Amino acid sequence: MCHDAAQATTQKTEICIKLATKSPKQLVRVALPQHVPTLLDYAVSAETPVKVGDFLSCPLMRRKCHGVVVELLEASPYKAIKTAEILPDVPPLALPTVEFFRWAARYSMSMPGAPVRAALPGGKVPAAPAALRRLVRGEETPKRLTPQRQRVMDIVAQKAWSVADLCSTAQVTPSVVQGLVKAGALVWQECAEHVVLPQVGQGPRLTAEQAAAVQKITSSFHNFQQDKSAKAQPVLLDGITGSGKTEVYFSSLDALWQQQPDGQVLLLVPEIALTPQLIQRVSDRFGVTPHVWHARQTPAAKQKTWWAVHRGEARVIVGARSALFLPFHNLRLVVVDEEHDPSYKQDEGGFHYHGRDLAVVLAKLWGAGVILGSATPSLESWHNTQQGKYVHVAMRERIGQAVLPDIYTLDLKGPDKTATDHFLAPTMLAALEKTLEKREQALLFLNRRGFAPLLICRKCGHRHDCPNCSASLVVHGDRLTCHHCGYSDGRPEVCGECGAEDALHPFGPGTRKVVQEVRAALPFARVAVADSDALTTPKQFQELMVGMAKGQIDILVGTQLVAKGHHFPKLTMVGVIDADMGLAMGDLRAAERTFQLLTQVAGRAGRAEHPGSVWLQTFQPEHPLFGALVQHDRDAYYKLELTARQQWGDPPFGRLVSLMLRGLDEQQTRDAALRLAQAFPVDEGVSLLGPAPPLVAKLRNQYRFRLLVKGTSGLQTFVQNWVKTVPLPKGVELFIDVDPQRLA
Ligand code: ADP
Ligand code: ZN
Repeated sequence: MCHDAAQATTQKTEICIKLATKSPKQLVRVALPQHVPTLLDYAVSAETPVKVGDFLSCPLMRRKCHGVVVELLEASPYKAIKTAEILPDVPPLALPTVEFFRWAARYSMSMPGAPVRAALPGGKVPAAPAALRRLVRGEETPKRLTPQRQRVMDIVAQKAWSVADLCSTAQVTPSVVQGLVKAGALVWQECAEHVVLPQVGQGPRLTAEQAAAVQKITSSFHNFQQDKSAKAQPVLLDGITGSGKTEVYFSSLDALWQQQPDGQVLLLVPEIALTPQLIQRVSDRFGVTPHVWHARQTPAAKQKTWWAVHRGEARVIVGARSALFLPFHNLRLVVVDEEHDPSYKQDEGGFHYHGRDLAVVLAKLWGAGVILGSATPSLESWHNTQQGKYVHVAMRERIGQAVLPDIYTLDLKGPDKTATDHFLAPTMLAALEKTLEKREQALLFLNRRGFAPLLICRKCGHRHDCPNCSASLVVHGDRLTCHHCGYSDGRPEVCGECGAEDALHPFGPGTRKVVQEVRAALPFARVAVADSDALTTPKQFQELMVGMAKGQIDILVGTQLVAKGHHFPKLTMVGVIDADMGLAMGDLRAAERTFQLLTQVAGRAGRAEHPGSVWLQTFQPEHPLFGALVQHDRDAYYKLELTARQQWGDPPFGRLVSLMLRGLDEQQTRDAALRLAQAFPVDEGVSLLGPAPPLVAKLRNQYRFRLLVKGTSGLQTFVQNWVKTVPLPKGVELFIDVDPQRLA
């Protein structure tokens, strides 16, 4: 090396060192709410020490996006690391939350930023709501004191005022107030949001069964709050419909707040439609309006909740599954109401997770309690109590004089055969008439909205299908609609296949056809329909609920929208039009779901002093499921189901991972699925089912093939290693669902 060159190198080194000492950087690993397959490394100026949980503004492809620091690094394997900035005035996420985000992404095999994406509305940290500004008395005394100014100065001595309140109380115009601000006689003061604390110790007198349940729950909380080494044990509150589970949740919150007034509680419901009544019950019981979180809120409402939760002002949050990703400050208890409900599973989009399962993990990471409540627990949770993993708290009595309704099956093959194109059995009609005579209410349940599920040509047998999906179009008045993709078209007059006129026949029952039949048979009854076509806004839903409660409706024909959670004292009869419908789905959980749904629907009947009855129309009354329902012997039925699952190694004994391939080209998609299957590694504990098309093989013009992996544990790593070996062609996408719930 010549002298000059050596000198140049020394100079260079010096420059580098200087740079390094001038602006040393901290290296961090960040989760970004974007579709990026890895976590990204960034550098942060050393001026402010960076922490795990800090929110950063990160450059990414010429844009800036918000991310969360998940790890502090000594070094990074990447070169060309970009510089990110700490977002000012945004406190970091709590460590259990960061850990939760990492766990959720890993477990569900999603993009590492998927939970952060779920946590940030629109992918960004919402702006902090402006602090409240109030006017108080300033240093200066106004030189000119008009009577109006005098009035303002008199009352401002009492407290801090908003301009509007000050003007209306002092009866002056805003310009008078502005003049005083200018003169320095009034000044602005920043006030913290007024936090209303829940009122504790004001619950109703509990029944003996409720009191015992609360006792068992709170003592199990005690275990893992005082003694951090004790393992947190989730509680399954297994109480029949109408046994007063909500009050048991509330009394548990009450007990918690008496010990820890700043503890936060998350109450999860499976569906947004169930939030208003829970919000009302929380307000009535604790004198606070809970903060709310679900997908359909306005950005302003989300901003408010997000910050109230982050700052710890929100003590009680009512939400749908996405509320699990809120930035909790001091989470102490999570309640998952109707824990068996399939709506807790998110199986669309890129981030597939089960809200109930994540709730258990979230609570564990916080060292918080978790109560899973249901009248018909999922087989998974029930099995966990049998294994001693969850604490089992049972409630077997209804509140007050209410007793469980009598349940009857109506044999559609035998005496209760319906007339052609009719869907109400003679016994069902007779029961409806009797209910009307007693001036009580009935609910007719049918999980199929619209008029008829099929439009069939009587001449050639042609079925009118959706052009985008392998599914039939549903008749809605004068239109045909696809319930999978939303495709809609006018109802044709002639058959699309053979051109026959007057041969098109709407086949099978829908809610609207049942309404028509009820109206024809019982013309004096006041009939209303409750399905997602009739109830498009929360207001319409609320009005219908009020109408039911006030007795303005005699017969309500509804889908699962009204099957759960509601309490109508005068509702004494429930009729199920097609009790077999769920069983035909060919899904591993079909029977379990049918049992749960029918128990829920049946549970709407006779919840007050009038006894109830439930009528199930079925073609297979001999099915053990109906026997168990009629006998009210759930446990016997669960045991039967579990034995079958054990035999096949199905959940909860084994685990499943679903791999769904989707593509516009059928052949290409099938080939990709076959290639994946061929590359499936031989492993003793793991087996492969498929590839096979799901029930709706074509959805929104995309062909679908599913591969199902079955094993006992460690399936994620197994799947990851396997999938890596088979590159997918362009145009075919792979969606992985760990613990899939819908397999039909
Ligand atoms: P579940 O959720 O178990 O179906 P709910 O919590 O809706 O039952 O309770 C059923 C009804 O009983 C509600 O109207 C509720 O207000 C009432 N209730 C619950 N607990 C009590 C109690 N301890 N005393 C009086 N009424 C109660
Ligand atoms: Zn469609």
